Amino acid sequence: YLMRREGGVEPRRLVVLAGPTAVGKGTVSAYIRENYPDILLSVSATTRAPRPGEVEGVHYYFVSDAEFDRMIAEQELLEWATVHNSYRYGTPRPPIDSALAEGKRVLLEIDLQGARLVREAMPEAVLVFLLPPTWDELVRRLIGRGTESGPEQTRRLETAKVELAAQDEFDYKVVNREVAQAAQEVVDLTLVPAASR
Ligand code: 5GP
Repeated sequence: YLMRREGGVEPRRLVVLAGPTAVGKGTVSAYIRENYPDILLSVSATTRAPRPGEVEGVHYYFVSDAEFDRMIAEQELLEWATVHNSYRYGTPRPPIDSALAEGKRVLLEIDLQGARLVREAMPEAVLVFLLPPTWDELVRRLIGRGTESGPEQTRRLETAKVELAAQDEFDYKVVNREVAQAAQEVVDLTLVPAASR
């Protein structure tokens, strides 16, 4: 018992990072991918096209609609969802099962619907909600990244309001003031302090 306590930490294994649009989930998970190589960051399959700079197998597996249908039929996805009413995104299950079997920590960066589905499929998962420092800051980031048109921005802000209301369903909240700090807090949540076991 003492040895376990002195070990200090035990992996929590499966952590799901979700949060409203434009909160910076992608930036935080990219930071974790580059700076914490012993954590498996799940690579989702998506039917959307790659953006400039996105690499097959690193950022996503870019698949056709037919291939996505096949993955659903073969039960290869832990969860999947249609995001922003357009493309489908899903979490391939085999790499997660292997990593967990090897005792590795796994992080999923997915949308809110996906987080709920993972909680149902794997109740031991820890759900983390990434929050903007303030509502104004979220608006500023959404407009500032300039990837959406005016009407699309309005639609995403409406969605963000609804999404923010879901924060109390989550086990933990992390405020994304600064990427390295937020990433560290998410990584810390993949370990359980011995005292709280
Ligand atoms: P983007 O197209 O900007 O890369 O991602 C759009 C949204 O899809 C983000 O909110 C992201 O969290 C979500 N997403 C990415 N991968 C998955 C996934 O495997 N499952 C679900 N449910 N959502 C995902």
